[in-house]
Amino acid sequence: MKNSDIQKLISKYLLLQDLINLEPVTWLNPNTTTLEVGLPDTGLCKNDVEDAEQRLQRFAPYLRKAFPETQNGLIESEITAIPQMRKALNQRYALDIKGDLLLKKDSHLPISGSIKARGGIYEVLTHAEKLALEAGLLIQTDDYGKLFSDEFRRFFGQYSIAVGSTGNLGMSIGIMGAKLGFHVSVHMSADARGWKKRKLRELGVKVVEHSLDYGVAVKQGREEAASNPRCFFIDDENSKTLFLGYSVAGGRVKKQFETMGIPVDEKHPLFVYLPCGVGGGPGGVAFGLKMAFGDHVHCIFAEPTHSPCMLLGVYTGLHDQISVQDLGIDNLTAADGLAVGRASGFVGRTMERLLDGFYTLSDQEMYDLLGLLNREEKIQLEPSALAGMPGPWRVTAHADWLKRYGLEEHAIHLVWATGGSLVPETEMAKYIATAQI
Ligand SMILES: *Cc1c(COP(=O)(O)O)cnc(C)c1O
Repeated sequence: MKNSDIQKLISKYLLLQDLINLEPVTWLNPNTTTLEVGLPDTGLCKNDVEDAEQRLQRFAPYLRKAFPETQNGLIESEITAIPQMRKALNQRYALDIKGDLLLKKDSHLPISGSIKARGGIYEVLTHAEKLALEAGLLIQTDDYGKLFSDEFRRFFGQYSIAVGSTGNLGMSIGIMGAKLGFHVSVHMSADARGWKKRKLRELGVKVVEHSLDYGVAVKQGREEAASNPRCFFIDDENSKTLFLGYSVAGGRVKKQFETMGIPVDEKHPLFVYLPCGVGGGPGGVAFGLKMAFGDHVHCIFAEPTHSPCMLLGVYTGLHDQISVQDLGIDNLTAADGLAVGRASGFVGRTMERLLDGFYTLSDQEMYDLLGLLNREEKIQLEPSALAGMPGPWRVTAHADWLKRYGLEEHAIHLVWATGGSLVPETEMAKYIATAQI
């Protein structure tokens, strides 16, 4: 963007100066609307989510064989209460929240240990199914367990998959793609961790390292795929398939709450806090939650102060037409998966009126929360997975906003923990040592 345009924006949108100053900000979206009004704008519907759930059900017999650590072929995580953390944070922020504090442990999802095990794996499976159906090797009523065979590995071995990633998406697509027999190349940005690259190489995945950031890695991946008709590019910035893979989480959470005896209704609103990078993961999950709980769920996105791309895009209405770098923000953060300078235009435009709010937090805050969660609950997460943790205190500080939704006494606060279980012990020890608590 031109400098003069940026100056105009800054005078029109007052929060931008705080973003530029890297101050933590909270923005509660004044354009949020009901599902009834907002849904038609998304171009998606409940059937799309159900279709994704059914595809995952078809693949369960395969996943059961290929990854026995899945729950009978399903990739799902548990929800757990974190009462000690709630107490510690009431103290830290000098504010008592009402309602329960729960953690959704996508950090411990089987296969790839992050939220990317939802969207990334789903997109690989969708592609594999399409190829096998088209080749006449599979029909939808088959037992998909038959894909776990040398015959199918040879078949998929004729094809390749490429993806650009800051790390976790590459892990999910690399692990799943390699297991099915695909040739996978992962274009990693400069900030990707060494241990993730090593693990992928051990699995026979081609890791291409880029000296620049995520946007460049994606562009290179896209170019590689364009030159090869047998190569499929997974587009993290614009993929509806990824989005729908994530969205399946909504109905699963609903079932989990039913089993746990936790009601979600007008008197018991659910607030969900999701770390956001390019937006596909949190956007897809939020869409699924809206389909499952309607207007009783409120989704809030969390981003690092150095990479507030989705807040910037939705707040200014410019979506992918503006990047944090345009404002002189450096997009440097320790939060893997969140170091994204330009948000997905697809997700921003699809979800802008169904999201309730956005906030930013510093890297040090994520580390401190990481240390606290480890101390109080003995749960270990990677830094980005803590971004959602201050959310309940941020919204509680805006009492009039909360009142709009009535009885905050009975609110349920669900913090989405997006990654961490695969982090090597020595790395985790370093994270914990970085906490100043
Ligand atoms: C990718 C990722 C996110 C955010 O997902 P996006 O789809 O990029 O918005 C959050 N946390 C972790 C750990 C991730 O890997």
